Amino acid sequence: MAEETVFGKIVSGEIPAKLLAETERVIAFPDINPQAPVHILVIPKTTEYRDVTELAAGDPELLAEMVSVAKQLAEEHANGEYRLIFNNGASAGQTVFHVHAHIIANLEERSLLG
Ligand code: 5GP
Repeated sequence: MAEETVFGKIVSGEIPAKLLAETERVIAFPDINPQAPVHILVIPKTTEYRDVTELAAGDPELLAEMVSVAKQLAEEHANGEYRLIFNNGASAGQTVFHVHAHIIANLEERSLLG
């Protein structure tokens, strides 16, 4: 098991998050520090995997479920087009070592934000 992270605490309910989607094995919630008009995190409930490389090797069906939830959210919150970003390792920008996908969308609205 990976060490408990802030996302493990969101899964357990210790830290609140507004759930935008939930399946048996996956949840999604807005990023606390959004980098785009739509910035949603999709995470598995299990704390077993630190990054997408471990997840792909250990449970590819769970990875596919995360991608499926991401597509559904991009259709609900944007026009269905989106970036899906996984940071892998601290020097690549990963700060939370509980695998998560960043859904980034509606980038054309950046200009409205200044
Ligand atoms: P990473 O840099 O590891 O790929 O992404 C971690 C993301 O988690 C960051 O974009 C950060 O803003 C977000 N984050 C960190 N703590 C919390 C939190 O307590 N709640 C939410 N909703 N997002 C968080």
